[in-house]
Amino acid sequence: MPLRRGQASDSVSKRGYTHQFLRHSYLKVIPANPRGYCHGVVTALRMAREIAAAESGPVYMLGYLVHNEHLTGELEELGITLIDADDRMAGLEAITEGTVIFTAHGISPSVRARAEELGLTCVDTTCSDVQKTHDLINDLVDDGYQIIYVGRRGHPEAIGCVGEAPDAVHLVEDAEDVAALELDARPVAVTTQTTLSVWDTADVIRSIKEQFPAAEIFNEICAATQDRQEAIVEVAAEADLVLVVGSRRSSNSQRLVEVTRQRTGKPAYLIDSVAEIDDAWFDGCKVVAVSSGASTPSPLTREVIRQLEAMPTPAD
Ligand code: SF4
Repeated sequence: MPLRRGQASDSVSKRGYTHQFLRHSYLKVIPANPRGYCHGVVTALRMAREIAAAESGPVYMLGYLVHNEHLTGELEELGITLIDADDRMAGLEAITEGTVIFTAHGISPSVRARAEELGLTCVDTTCSDVQKTHDLINDLVDDGYQIIYVGRRGHPEAIGCVGEAPDAVHLVEDAEDVAALELDARPVAVTTQTTLSVWDTADVIRSIKEQFPAAEIFNEICAATQDRQEAIVEVAAEADLVLVVGSRRSSNSQRLVEVTRQRTGKPAYLIDSVAEIDDAWFDGCKVVAVSSGASTPSPLTREVIRQLEAMPTPAD
């Protein structure tokens, strides 16, 4: 019977013959650096924990504070109620009193105004990198520009940014959207969501430049996103398999998987935790690269790395 991965091979057979000793080697694990928490997530979590400790009345997070279910569960245990609504305005109507926390993804001015109208105490954890894009959009609109915003439809960050100037900001996801754009005579500026694929965005921007050669480009992919994508692509080149620890809700985690597949052709999977590791991925695999999304708690990633390092590979 063939030995299964990890099965001891130095036993003695029933006939008394000693089986040939087989040397085990273990999976080599290469953690990408940087990986995991970004400064925006750290700040949002700190602010939320402080509010939970300080407030005696009800506290709500309007949407997932960061896109990770483990962290959301921890915040709920601290007494913060999740209003699960990508449409922040609709979600807001479910809150009648207390404190509302706006997430790191940013918020459109109309939602902020409505929250104030409802008499809610507002706590804004918008990441400084996202806020920079909001400010840029406002400055450009004040200067008479119309804006092409490269982002994901329905993502809260994109909704918040477009909400700064809905009449002047056009959301595009890909070259097809760009081809369908009908702009007026105002000068054109281009900006982006912070968590996009560096390479896909470059392609979209190229098609914008072909159609609108005078467009001014302000690439707003944040440094945390860019550094994590470049790091995983680099280590994936040395690996047989890539695992990204993160939530399916997390745009930046999904992009890490996507860019790895696109740039290296290596098999790459998104796992929420160690429980989602699938043995079927490891046939012939000796080296695994691991990264994690900007909202993934480090203990989850450490657990994955520990488990992988303990997995024997068949001897050569
Ligand atoms: Fe901020 Fe970038 Fe982190 Fe988003 S991924 S919270 S923009 S640092």
